[in-house]
Amino acid sequence: MQQPQPGDYIDIHVHGGKPAPGIFILESLMAHEEKLPTDNPGVAYTFGIHPWFLNEDNHEKHILSLDQIVRLPSIIAIGEAGFDRLRGPSAVLQRQTFEEQVMISEEIKKPVIIHCVRGWDELLSVQKRLRPKMSWLVHGFRGNTVLANQLLSKGMYLSLWFEFVMRPESAGLLRALPLDRIFLETDGADIDIKHIYDKVATDLSITVDQLKKIIIRNFNTFFGMEPPAAARLSP
Ligand SMILES: [Zn+2]
Repeated sequence: MQQPQPGDYIDIHVHGGKPAPGIFILESLMAHEEKLPTDNPGVAYTFGIHPWFLNEDNHEKHILSLDQIVRLPSIIAIGEAGFDRLRGPSAVLQRQTFEEQVMISEEIKKPVIIHCVRGWDELLSVQKRLRPKMSWLVHGFRGNTVLANQLLSKGMYLSLWFEFVMRPESAGLLRALPLDRIFLETDGADIDIKHIYDKVATDLSITVDQLKKIIIRNFNTFFGMEPPAAARLSP
């Protein structure tokens, strides 16, 4: 398994990323793409069934292939998986497919990367029902402090949406977030993860090197086996 090296930037959510010196990427493979991980330095993989590409006809096929592929050592998490109220199949099928992925995550002891658009009630209700021991990371987060607090209090990690995090008004949320719960991402968009780190380090009044250390530590914790405790925004 590939791991970030000291001094690396981590881009925690990428599609179609290219390995680059000094940048560690987590490439998010989606079941419908039918791509397998390859052994590239500086790249680790997740594998999941994205709600946009799920339907009644492919559900069973995707679950069966996922159940095998996520056991590969190069796959370090399940996802992205979750809920999308604006795109994808029925809420019932989205929920069933998410729960199935959560159960596999618990069985193989790998965490979950979550895609969630307007499906927070569903997400929280699945967590309440299944009581997972593995950590969950919400990627592309762009919500307010109330929602952030709700997710943090359930032990979740947040990776901030690249467009939101570059806006000046995201500084307030960034300063309130517990630093041991954050990740940064490009989501495969045409933006340099280094620019995102620069902006966030400035907002937090820390150096980029300090920010790199924080996020590498978060990476190691998130992909370890310890379930996280609840956290809160700082006042
Ligand atoms: Zn994505």
